[in-house]
Amino acid sequence: MTFDPVSALQDLIRLDTTNPPGNEALAINYLVDVLERHGLAHRIVAKDPSRPNLIASIRGAGNAPGLLMQGHVDVVPTAGQPWSKDPFSGDIHDGFIWGRGSLDMKSGIVMMVDALLRLAASDHEPAGDIVFAALADEEAGSEFGAKFLVNEHPDLFDGIRYSVGEFGGFPLTLGGVRFYPIQIAERSSVVFRLTIRGDGGHGSLAARGGTTARLAEVLRRLDRRHCPIHVVPPTKMMLEAMMDHLDGAQRRIIGTLLHPRTAAPTLAALRSKLGVLEPVLRNTVAPTIISSGDKVNVLPATAEVILDGRLLPGLTAKSFAAEVRDLVGEGVEVEFEAEQPTTNDEPDMGLFNTLAGIVKERDPEGVPIPFLLPAVTDGRWFARLGIQHYGFQPMKLPDDFVFQSTVHAADERISVAAVNHGADAMYDLLTRYEG
Ligand SMILES: [Zn+2]
Repeated sequence: MTFDPVSALQDLIRLDTTNPPGNEALAINYLVDVLERHGLAHRIVAKDPSRPNLIASIRGAGNAPGLLMQGHVDVVPTAGQPWSKDPFSGDIHDGFIWGRGSLDMKSGIVMMVDALLRLAASDHEPAGDIVFAALADEEAGSEFGAKFLVNEHPDLFDGIRYSVGEFGGFPLTLGGVRFYPIQIAERSSVVFRLTIRGDGGHGSLAARGGTTARLAEVLRRLDRRHCPIHVVPPTKMMLEAMMDHLDGAQRRIIGTLLHPRTAAPTLAALRSKLGVLEPVLRNTVAPTIISSGDKVNVLPATAEVILDGRLLPGLTAKSFAAEVRDLVGEGVEVEFEAEQPTTNDEPDMGLFNTLAGIVKERDPEGVPIPFLLPAVTDGRWFARLGIQHYGFQPMKLPDDFVFQSTVHAADERISVAAVNHGADAMYDLLTRYEG
C-alpha cells in the first residue's frame, strides 16, 4: 500500500477540477480514499458539498507551534490555449507529466500527501502538530476554500504559526545565478472600475471625442505610464539577498533598485531582463475587461474598464487609488473594491533558514532567497489568523524550463524527477521542523 506521488499526480490531473465550476469533490474524494487506505484520520469541511475541503493532521510532541501544509486542488481553465497535448491526460512524455495542475498545484498536493503518509508510517514524532489542508476554490477567490475555513472554522488552525504551500522553491536564473525564491510575502488584489461618462447620441452622427475615444486614451496612458516605485521591506530583503550572490555590474544594477530614484530608470532601460522584478517594486494595474455600448446605432454614454490591480504589502488601497487617478488623469471616475486584506510587510522569518537549508542541500550551487510574490495565494487568508505563509513547493527543473511562464499557460508540465524531489524535501521539512 505504498503511495506513489507521480501516479497520484497523473490521477489527479485526470480529475477535471477546472474552476469555474471547480468540482473539487472529485479530487478530494480521491485524497480521502488515499488517507483511508493508510489509516489516517481526516475531516471534510464544506460550504457546498460539491466543493469540499479536506483536513488531516498528525499530532506533535507539543514542543513547537503547529505547521500547516496547504494546497488547492482546483485548476484554472484551459479553454482557448494552444495545448500540444490533452491537458487532462496526465500522460508522461520525455520524463514530464503533462497537464493542467501539474505545476499549480496538484504536484504540491501529492508532495504534501507523500510527506504526511511517510511521517505517519515512521516513528518520528514531529515537534509540533502537522496539519494538511487540501482546499477548494483558490483560483477564484477562495469563497469555498481558505476564506471560508479561516472565517467560519478558525479553530481548525489553532496553535499554527507557519504555513507552507505555493509559491516557492523553484529555480529562477538571473545573471547566471540559479536562485530559488521562497515566498515570504505577497501582493494583494484590488479591483478598480474606471468609468467615463459622456452624452451619447445617434450612431449616424460623425461624433468625435466620445466616451469610447476617451477610453482609448485612458488605455494608452495605462500602457505607457507606471505607478511610482516603493521599496517595501520584503522587496528590500529579496534584493539584498540577490546582491550577496552577484558580482560587479550585476550587483550594482540590483543595488540601484533599492532606491526609488534610481530604480525607475534602471527598470526602463533593462525591462527585457529585469521585467520580472517590476511587480515587486511598484503597484500595477492591468486593464482586463472593457465594456461600452450595447446597440449598434447608439453612441454609448458610458465606457468602462475593469483593472486588475495588485498592491504591494504594507500599502493601502486608498493610496493605490490615488496613484491610479494620477495615471489616468482628469475626467475618469475611479472606484475600487478594497475587500481583500492588505498583507503583512513584516514577515516572520523564523522558518526561512530551515526551508532554505533543505533547498540548498539539494542544489549546493543554488541560492535560496526571500521572495515577494507579485500574485496572491491562499496564504493571505491564513495571514488573518496570524499564520506566516511560506512558498515552498520545491522543484528542481531543467535550466531552460521557465516555471513562471508555464503556470496557468498551455503545455503546463512538471518533470517526474521534480515531483519526487519535492516530496522528499517536504518530508525533510516535517522531520526537521522545530518551530
Ligand atoms: Zn495555485
